[in-house]
Amino acid sequence: MPETSAAASTPASLETPLARAAAVPVPDADALAGRFPLGPGTAAASDAERARALTDLHFGSVFTDHMAHARWTRGAGWAEHGVVAYGDLTLSPAAAVLHYGQEVFEGIKAYRHADGSIWTFRPRYNAARLNVSARRLALPELPEEDFVASLVDLVRADARWVPSGEGESLYLRPFVFASEPFLGVRPAGVVDYYVIASPSGAYFTHGLEPISIWVTQNYHRAGRGGTGFAKTGGNYASSLLPQGEAAAKGCDQVCFLDDVTERNLEELGGMNIMVVDDDGTVRTPHLTGTILEGSTRSAIIRLLTDAGRRVVEDTISLEGLLADIDSGRVREVFACGTAAVVVPLGRLTGEGFDVTIEGCAVTHEIHDRLIGIQYGAHEDPYGWMYRLA
Ligand SMILES: *Cc1c(COP(=O)(O)O)cnc(C)c1O
Repeated sequence: MPETSAAASTPASLETPLARAAAVPVPDADALAGRFPLGPGTAAASDAERARALTDLHFGSVFTDHMAHARWTRGAGWAEHGVVAYGDLTLSPAAAVLHYGQEVFEGIKAYRHADGSIWTFRPRYNAARLNVSARRLALPELPEEDFVASLVDLVRADARWVPSGEGESLYLRPFVFASEPFLGVRPAGVVDYYVIASPSGAYFTHGLEPISIWVTQNYHRAGRGGTGFAKTGGNYASSLLPQGEAAAKGCDQVCFLDDVTERNLEELGGMNIMVVDDDGTVRTPHLTGTILEGSTRSAIIRLLTDAGRRVVEDTISLEGLLADIDSGRVREVFACGTAAVVVPLGRLTGEGFDVTIEGCAVTHEIHDRLIGIQYGAHEDPYGWMYRLA
């Protein structure tokens, strides 16, 4: 990965391999449906149980009736595709994932539109990214159409779990892990793929309220040549202690600096960051290999560019950012990701500094534009939305 310090005049790239992969058309859901057939004898929650579960939605605590599954074995490849009852897994205590963390995951949502139809957002982006992550973790790749098919079949089985309230969605969590019982250190020969689904309300309970950020100078999320660009549980495991440090300082989230210069902003534990300048330019850190390439980041770059804004991938030093916030050159800072969508950062603090950021006009604009497309209130000129059911 290039370690550039390209001038901030370079327009943000809309043509990354992931963006290109996401642009390849996916067959209609009707053509993919049935690749993960619904198994027999799967008990469903009663309407009353489901209604109770859907009343007070938080993030990721309630799960639907089913899960999609397939198993890969070395030599034979992927098999056993199906949608089965949601429930506890039986796993050998020697399963490699429990010892060496060989695991990758995705996060994508299903949205109910006003006419009752159910849609998702750029599923091929997540399909391609799962495989980028899988390659780094020495896990087998899943055919991209099978990834989308697993979402189609699971959402069709659990369609009644897709909520319709404002900001609500069915959060889909595909994941792949090493299930082979073997303590030797090598890529596992048996691997499971599951998709579970969780009806969810807003990620941050205070909505579009600005959040506060602790910039840690003690920990890094990722290092050069490591797994920062992959969506893997280990990155999250290593973010928990610094997240605790942030919480102890009274902050909502932690922000990481790069591990080489220890000066440049990278991202939050699970969200990319963007900065809005007083001339309307939006800047976001370069994809250096230590940053996760967000689908939301990519969509926002496209939306802002098409709205006539200059969007640049830049090296954003903490020192420079603090000076620019102080001088008024930087007006807004926001974070973005599938789970929380777009969130303004209202306070940036760390060892020796504590600043507030007042602006949030562009943040609100981009939030409304994006969720307008996702929930079907705005037209989708990009072909980003994919009808699941
Ligand atoms: C998932 C994730 C993001 C956001 O990616 P989206 O595709 O926009 O949801 C950002 N950073 C990290 C570390 C992530 O794991």
